[in-house]
Amino acid sequence: MAQWFALKAENPEFLLFFRMGDFYELFFDDAIAAASALDIALTARGNHAGEPIAMCGVPVAAAPSYLSRLIRRGFRVAVAEQTATSPSKKTGKGRPGPAQKGPLPRAVVRLVTPGTLTEDELLEPGRSNLLVALAQEGNGRGSTDVRGAAWIDISTGQFETASCKTNDLGHLLARLDPAEILAPPDCNLGDYEARRHPGAIPPAAHTARTRLAEIFNVASLDAFGTFTDAEAAAGLMAVEYIRRSQAGTMPRLSHPRPQTEQDTLGLDPATRASLDLLRARDGGSQHTLFSAVNRTVTAAGARLLSSWIAAPLTSPERITARQACWDWLRHDSVSLDALRQVLRGAPDIDRALGRLSVGRGQPRDLATLRDSVSAAHSAVSVIEAVQHGKRPALLETALKALRGGSLLERELDRALADELPPRVEDGGFIASGYDGELDAQRALRDDSRRVIAALQNEYAQRFGVASLKIRHHAQLGYVMEVPSAVGARLRTRGDLSFRQGTASAARFSTEELVDLDSRIAEATERATIRERQIFTALIARALEEKELPLLARALALLDVVQSSASLATGGTWCRSKVDDSMAFDLSACRHPVVEAALGTGTRFTANSCSLEPDHRVMLLTGPNMAGKSTFLRQNALTVILAQAGLPVPAKTAHIGVVDRLFSRVGASDDLARGRSTFMVEMTETAGILNQASPRSLVVVDEIGRGTSTLDGLSIAWAVLETMHSTLRCRTIFATHFHELAQLSETLPRLSPHTMAVRDWKGQVVFLHEVVPGSARRSWGVHVARLAGVPHPVVERAARLLKELEQDHSAGQRTLPLFDGHQPAADIACEPDDPSKNVTRDIFEQVLGLDPDSLSPREALAALYQLKSVA
Ligand code: ADP
Repeated sequence: MAQWFALKAENPEFLLFFRMGDFYELFFDDAIAAASALDIALTARGNHAGEPIAMCGVPVAAAPSYLSRLIRRGFRVAVAEQTATSPSKKTGKGRPGPAQKGPLPRAVVRLVTPGTLTEDELLEPGRSNLLVALAQEGNGRGSTDVRGAAWIDISTGQFETASCKTNDLGHLLARLDPAEILAPPDCNLGDYEARRHPGAIPPAAHTARTRLAEIFNVASLDAFGTFTDAEAAAGLMAVEYIRRSQAGTMPRLSHPRPQTEQDTLGLDPATRASLDLLRARDGGSQHTLFSAVNRTVTAAGARLLSSWIAAPLTSPERITARQACWDWLRHDSVSLDALRQVLRGAPDIDRALGRLSVGRGQPRDLATLRDSVSAAHSAVSVIEAVQHGKRPALLETALKALRGGSLLERELDRALADELPPRVEDGGFIASGYDGELDAQRALRDDSRRVIAALQNEYAQRFGVASLKIRHHAQLGYVMEVPSAVGARLRTRGDLSFRQGTASAARFSTEELVDLDSRIAEATERATIRERQIFTALIARALEEKELPLLARALALLDVVQSSASLATGGTWCRSKVDDSMAFDLSACRHPVVEAALGTGTRFTANSCSLEPDHRVMLLTGPNMAGKSTFLRQNALTVILAQAGLPVPAKTAHIGVVDRLFSRVGASDDLARGRSTFMVEMTETAGILNQASPRSLVVVDEIGRGTSTLDGLSIAWAVLETMHSTLRCRTIFATHFHELAQLSETLPRLSPHTMAVRDWKGQVVFLHEVVPGSARRSWGVHVARLAGVPHPVVERAARLLKELEQDHSAGQRTLPLFDGHQPAADIACEPDDPSKNVTRDIFEQVLGLDPDSLSPREALAALYQLKSVA
């Protein structure tokens, strides 16, 4: 227990996995927390201060799955191993080692936290797993509101930094979607609070610069670019945390790279949430933009594609450079197929290197490196075989990187056996012929085995027992085994020593057997040690190979290029023109996720969208369910894809580069944080009005829906005017307030559009087509019918609507409630009709409604209420 207390005191914020034999045991509060999180039995073992000690345990062999459950539940785990082997284990000479007193020594060898995972079982293959560290500029002294951020993906070695204003921290975190965050206590992490690792303190800037330069073996950190003090401090904080998590072993990290936020399209958290870029609102990855465009075949390719989508570019040159690659490749379908085939055989180099560098590598990780290098070389041949046009510059650079690693590949090819065991301990993974000493030890071992096999015949004759066998026993080593009846006769012989008897067999050893046995054991152990040495040397060799990470990046790039080219060959995706103009012109554009969800039965209606400077604000009206949100989102998604350098789902597209994209589509209730829908809506609107520039694109749905009609209309009006005349951003503004369409008379760049709807025998048919003009009617009553509101209610509502509209045009604003109609009679039921009460309930509720004072949202809620009564 003293050992446990000491280790726990070093790692108080972690659950301590305390190795005892084949189990990791947990004690005290750790045990209580883990037993309930894992749903395993809680027991007790011994006493402490007069109380039984709570305990639970998990088998070592099954630890990864338990660990991953604990990590997902927000726990962090410290793994304490026995650092010496059992004293009773035989040494090479077959003699027991010196007896050891007291418990085996133990030490924490690993901290398992969400941001420092390397095991494949615990990681999602196609997604980065980032540890983010934050520090403040000035470090508290006269501090500014600028933060320095550094992030590391330990499983791939990626290491980047950026600066951002405290207000924009949410944007950065939303883009990175970190697994774990190290931040000083005063730093507010908003929605990401749950991922904070408590107790992180940034180091002083000059210490950080010096230490990082030492770690990456350069004279000055400036060698890698310009870092702010806070970025350097955050960088060191992340690196030190990782070193601590690996118990002092430094994993392979690429050198830090500073990023400037201006290089990427601004996407705030609300925009990301409304567009389902990498994760859908349900947290899954289906029905996302990523899944709609992903045709990658490797995990590294999927990760690169995700990062492109998460951070689209703003430089037309860089965007064009990416587009050029897939545009060039898509015209050669044979090479495209060949490339895909080659990439399928390229396993995940980054993660293999990650495991090897922290000492958790296995023989198969080396095979991964070998196979990837060989895949890279095949990829070079495929690309070089493409004949047409000039090879794009980005691919030219990639080709250089892909040619690397030959020496390592050859070495690994010679070194590794054909069949590789899953674990180093299983042995036999180094090919024969690679190392003379290993071969010699193996030969010695195998010769002795052969001698033993030959002894069986000789002994059978010498001792006159035909059924005599020579067998290997875990405890006894090699023994001669005879039936027990014969055993009694042989026990008297001086050249045999009796070892063991069972009901059916007697076991003897001979001097010869003992000698051979220890020769085999010795040779086996020497071979094992030698094999380990070779393994370690090969790993060191692989980690030194500077070309490998570049090659891995080039392979990932090829996969994204291949994926995009495949997407674009179908003819329904195009290469957009992205430049410095103010253009925005999409023809026959689609929403890829909604389109996919429609399935084969229904055709998706493509829509064009033009926000050219002289009509840069589109006002979109139309009933619910007509396709407004879909249209809004598809334009925003197209900008993201275009600026990520990927194909877009349109016939043609011309986009003057967008600096910030704002998308507010679909109600985002934030009741958990105690803000009403209206408050959220207004906060978000304020965010847009304060940040949008003429280069921005704003797509908003239903501003002003959260309050009463007149309030809402006034707010929507004022916001629309500001966007049109002051911010001058490209805008699509969807609204229920048809009145706003009249503004086109005073706002010259406003172009009213509406969703086409056909009235077919009194029923509404949605055409999902965006046409010039404005909606003349709401069709709310029709939507109510579609939704299954009972016929009498719909009928009555339709009649009321007609009267209201007449009165409205006649200047009256009161409700024509008792206007000579006998409402109850209008929808009269038979007196004994059991639905009568229900009908009256509904009827009274309808009477109680005041449509003029209802917001569209409240009206919808009222409809649901009516339906629930019905
Ligand atoms: P609104 O925002 O106007 O209420 P949505 O955009 O949510 O409407 O669309 C409602 C449904 O209509 C979608 O779920 C989809 O099934 C269908 N839809 C929308 N746009 C289209 C389109 N362009 N082509 C075909 N179906 C569409």
